[in-house]
Amino acid sequence: MSSESKKEIHDVVVFGSGPAGLTAAIYAARANLDPVVYEGIQPGGQLTTTTEVENYPGFPEGMMGPELMERFRRQAERFGAKLLPDRVEATFLDQWPFKYRLDGGEKGLARTVIIATGATARYLGLPSEERLKGRGVSACATCDGFFFRDQHIVVVGGGDSAMEEANFLTRFASKVTVVHRRQELRASKIMQERTRKNPKIHWALNKVVVEVMGKDSVEAVKLRDVSTAEESVLDATGFFLAIGHHPNTGPFRDWLETDGKGYLLTRPDSTATSIPGVFACGDVQDQVFRQAITAAGSGCMAAIEAERWLEARQEG
Ligand code: NAP
Repeated sequence: MSSESKKEIHDVVVFGSGPAGLTAAIYAARANLDPVVYEGIQPGGQLTTTTEVENYPGFPEGMMGPELMERFRRQAERFGAKLLPDRVEATFLDQWPFKYRLDGGEKGLARTVIIATGATARYLGLPSEERLKGRGVSACATCDGFFFRDQHIVVVGGGDSAMEEANFLTRFASKVTVVHRRQELRASKIMQERTRKNPKIHWALNKVVVEVMGKDSVEAVKLRDVSTAEESVLDATGFFLAIGHHPNTGPFRDWLETDGKGYLLTRPDSTATSIPGVFACGDVQDQVFRQAITAAGSGCMAAIEAERWLEARQEG
């Protein structure tokens, strides 16, 4: 017998531990499938970097993001889900049981896989931005806004996230300038109105960022007008990105179908991917809603579909 065939084969392996992954774990654990959850680099997912969550049903007074995710964890563990701090590095989904390798080199086998690895904030890709990451450059206002009390912050983006971040940052900053590459904002009307009413928020529309300036930390931001090509410099110590997210599909994208933006494709009204037995839920397959409640809902669907898939395979 090879060492591979002696290894335990998990019924359900979940990659990711945001609302989608942990809801999948709760449902799979309650179905006695002994799920193993590899939590990834950000246990609890994106909600651990937010402050108050006001729209998660069942918490009329709101709840802090990290506390909400801690409750998800406790609920999953209560029913026997095994939460491990590892990150998946590679998968081999062309063979069954499915194989995977973790960042520490350990390998594992799974009868079903639930992918809930979420999405990560995008950056502009400027060398100066990369150099000053963590030194004034950030993609998380709720994590880092506090450090910019009474300072000028630039926020890049014209969507709902940019509006939300800009408004949030005015709690600390003396002034926030929103830089957007077009004249029209993409954000919803209500978010635009709220932002336009905020006296601390200023606008640099139709402008792109050419360079984030500063030796050891952000000192200024160089902009270029899209129409006139005229360059200008804003003195600012904070530079926050809110230009969307990209899905975390690295270990899976060689095997599974994705859409034009790289999100995993699932069948209509289902979390089933292009490989039977592999399911995807949450932000890694959703660029439209991106809410904790929709992620949790799709995590529930993934666990139920995994359970049914295993049953059908046993019968067949
Ligand atoms: P988004 O709607 O895709 O907006 C991204 C913004 O970044 C756009 O204005 C885009 O410009 C700009 N952008 C993208 N790439 C850029 C680049 N390379 N350089 C400069 N600018 C760039 O993303 P989002 O704001 O993160 O929102 C995503 C989804 O979550 C949306 O459905 C949104 O409604 C939802 N959301 C909702 C709430 C809420 O309801 N409270 C809060 C946050 C997010 P263009 O407009 O020119 O493309």
